[in-house]
Formats: sequence, C-alpha cells, structure tokens
Amino acid sequence: VLPARLFFEAVEQSSVAISITDTRANILYANPAFERVTGYGVAEVVGRNESILSDRHTPSLVYETLWGRLRQLKPWSGVLVNRRKDGSRYLAELSIAPVLDGQGQLSHYLGMHRDVTEMH
Ligand code: FAD
Repeated sequence: VLPARLFFEAVEQSSVAISITDTRANILYANPAFERVTGYGVAEVVGRNESILSDRHTPSLVYETLWGRLRQLKPWSGVLVNRRKDGSRYLAELSIAPVLDGQGQLSHYLGMHRDVTEMH
C-alpha cells in the first residue's frame, strides 16, 4: 500500500498547478506549482475562491457550462484566460474533477492547470 506521504510529495512536486477546493470552489490546498503559475502564495489563496483567477472578460456562459458539468458530478476540461496576482493574463489549460466521498456524495473539487500561453 502506498503511504499517504507519497501522494502528498507527488502532488507537492508536480509541475502542474494543483488545488483542492470545497464544494463552492473555496481553496483549501494549493501546491508550489500553483504559486509559480498564478503568482499567489499558498498562504494568501487558502480560504479564497478560485474566481480570483478569473479574467473578467470571459463570457459567463463558459463558467455556466463548467458548473453545469460539475453539478452533474462530471469533470470539465478546457482552456480559460486566467489572471495572475500581478494582473497579467495567461492561457490556462484546466481540468476540474469532482472528488466523491465513500457514499458517492460530492466532497471536494480537484483543479489542475498549466500555463499554455506559449503554445498558442
Ligand atoms: P461565479 O460567481 O463563480 O459564477 C459564475 C457562474 O457559475 C454562475 O452562473 C453561477 O451560477 C455558477 N456557479 C458558481 N459557483 C457555483 C457552484 N458552487 N455551484 C453551481 N454553480 C455555480 N475559474 C477561473 O476563472 N480560473 C480557474 O483557474 C479556475 N479554477 C477552478 C478550479 C476549481 C477546482 C473549481 C471548482 C473552480 C475553478 N474556477 C476557475 C471557477 C471559479 O470558481 C468561478 O466559478 C469562475 O472563476 C467564475 O467566477 P465569477 O466570480 O465570475 O462567477
């Protein structure tokens, strides 16, 4: 059986920006790559909503589609324009997956994204 410590270290050392939120997208955990990509320190994002990364020009239909999938307990992936702490924008290739508890009820969300600005 793999130790929990190994899961933690693997996530901490991933080059992908990883965050875990409650069911309302409030951030509970973010890894070091999340800090590098977004410019926000872990301590300052914990307790805040993922919407701090939202670029205010993204059509609301995009977020409605995303939440429509999540409400059905299905994952969503796509490319969004995100804003860093310093206000600069980047293209985020993002996947969000619901995390279910032992009873199959929604307990958290897992978000994973990388900056793909240079690939476009
Ligand atoms: P919001 O007030 O969040 O609302 C936008 C629309 O989504 C509304 O129509 C609303 O009805 C619907 N909605 C919002 N919250 C819920 C909910 N809890 N249940 C059902 N419907 C809801 N956004 C980004 O821009 N960039 C990211 O990198 C990003 N990463 C995310 C990672 C995770 C794990 C999760 C769960 C969400 C992420 N989001 C991200 C989405 C983010 O939480 C916001 O919904 C989004 O940024 C829009 O913010 P807003 O303040 O403009 O609108």
